Amino acid sequence: MAQHAPLTRFYHHLFSQWGKAHGLHTISELICHRLSMDFAVKKAVLIVAYKAHWKLLFSMHGEEVSHHFPPVEWPDYIGIPFYQITKAIRRGEPFVDDIGYNRRVWLPLKRHSVIMGCLVIDLPKISANEHLREDDFSQLATLLAAELDASLVNETIQDEHAGRRTAERELQIRLDEQHNLYLQLQALHDISFKLWRATSMDNMLFTAVDEAKRALCIDRLAIFLFKEHGRMQGTWGTDLQGNTVDERYFESAIPDMWFANHTVENKEYLVVEKNTPIIHDLKPVGVLGWSAYLSLWDEDTPIGWIACDNLISGGPIHDYQQHILKQFGFMVSQHFVRRKAEESLISLNAELEQRVTERTNELQRANAQLEIMSRQDPLTGVANRRMFDTRFIEEWRRAERHQLPISLLVIDVDHFKHYNDHYGHAAGDDCLRAIAQALSSLERRAGALFARYGGEEFVLLLPGQDNFAAKYAAKRALMTVQHLQLPRENGADSAPNIVTISVGGCTVIPSAQISPTKFFERTDAALYEAKSKGRNQYVIG
Ligand code: GH3
Ligand code: MG
Ligand code: MG
Repeated sequence: MAQHAPLTRFYHHLFSQWGKAHGLHTISELICHRLSMDFAVKKAVLIVAYKAHWKLLFSMHGEEVSHHFPPVEWPDYIGIPFYQITKAIRRGEPFVDDIGYNRRVWLPLKRHSVIMGCLVIDLPKISANEHLREDDFSQLATLLAAELDASLVNETIQDEHAGRRTAERELQIRLDEQHNLYLQLQALHDISFKLWRATSMDNMLFTAVDEAKRALCIDRLAIFLFKEHGRMQGTWGTDLQGNTVDERYFESAIPDMWFANHTVENKEYLVVEKNTPIIHDLKPVGVLGWSAYLSLWDEDTPIGWIACDNLISGGPIHDYQQHILKQFGFMVSQHFVRRKAEESLISLNAELEQRVTERTNELQRANAQLEIMSRQDPLTGVANRRMFDTRFIEEWRRAERHQLPISLLVIDVDHFKHYNDHYGHAAGDDCLRAIAQALSSLERRAGALFARYGGEEFVLLLPGQDNFAAKYAAKRALMTVQHLQLPRENGADSAPNIVTISVGGCTVIPSAQISPTKFFERTDAALYEAKSKGRNQYVIG
């Protein structure tokens, strides 16, 4: 019959092609195609039970058929309220709604009395479709339910398999990353150890750059330190071939770049920029890659940067590497701060030591000066009374020990009061200096000592010298002063008109019978005798 022709054609094509269809996707398309060809259907949807929810498997809108696997949530654009679907499912039997130009056919899909889904077909009210009833599609419903039963289970399993495989792959990747992270943490620990052992700040910075590249698998790395007035200074870095090089020549203003502001202002420890031109000495080197900037801190003060990139290998930066780099940044900061404190302490100590040495030297010089001064007569520069007293006792004891003779001369300037009165005290001083100068070089034998005893009186100690030698020395002393020819105003007596001296001398071999004081008194007595005999002469007792 003519009115059954489309239905017959529909099922004929459906059956002949159903068997050749592979999977739900092809069947969805086949159904939509046939509904469109045989009944001019423009809209059809299939909802299925999937993992305990009602989900959309396919929808047809005009020419367009959308198949979804896994099935998706019910979309609004379908234009069929979801509650109507649930109502139809609850009803469990096919029925028809009149909706203007179409009759909406609801076909619940049952399999062993379980509802698997619901096919909704908007059947246009055209004359060819006039005699079609919902039951005419019950075969389609049965067929589709059977197909869904088999395919959904199958595809769900496949989907789960695929999901598991992906999960396994992801797990493996994560395990690998974890392993690498572990290895790199170990490497980080080793680097820290090497930084501890570095011999200086410079050596520490070199080690940080060189070791990080090798052990943390970073192509290039450079450390910059901040200076005053917004400037920065290179330390150690990496050239374009990957060699660790001295970059202390590099100095510039801290660049006004996003990463600079970002790290320092936001206290961001690591900033990574991907697909960026790689920079060397602040100039792009014409390759795209990643660059990372680690900021270095001394508590809240930014102290520098570590710049890294992948110029050489072009390899990616892994998440775990970013963690490691952050740790590396902390580590270098700590080592830097510690070493700086250490070095400033060392230089402070050296400075202190230097100052102490200088002070000690100064003190030693002052002491030496004081020592000389304490032994020297300030007016004449010859040994003073103090020096004489010390040496006199020493030499006396020595002579006593070795039973050797010791001689002493006491030398007194004649009529010096008169000289002073006549020429003035300053001239008197000059006169004393001249006499002292001349007499000081008179006797050079070991142990001999010429000293100013006080006023215009001098002494000449002659250890080991006998009476004869004492006489000879006294004689020479008289002559030496005479030879100076120091003019002197002739006084009342018959003294010559040059400055003269009188000398009293004495020689003994020290013994219990005579004390040093007695010995000195005897010498003094000899001088007195020389004076009383008319001066300008010697008496050796
Ligand atoms: P005599 O020949 O008996 O030794 O006579 P005299 O005048 O040298 O002896 P007196 O002891 O009476 O005088 C010593 C003088 O030496 C007194 C003092 O003015 C002088 N005199 C002592 N010490 C210094 C000195 O350091 N500088 C000067 N210019 N004169 C001094
Ligand atoms: Mg005198
Ligand atoms: Mg005198």
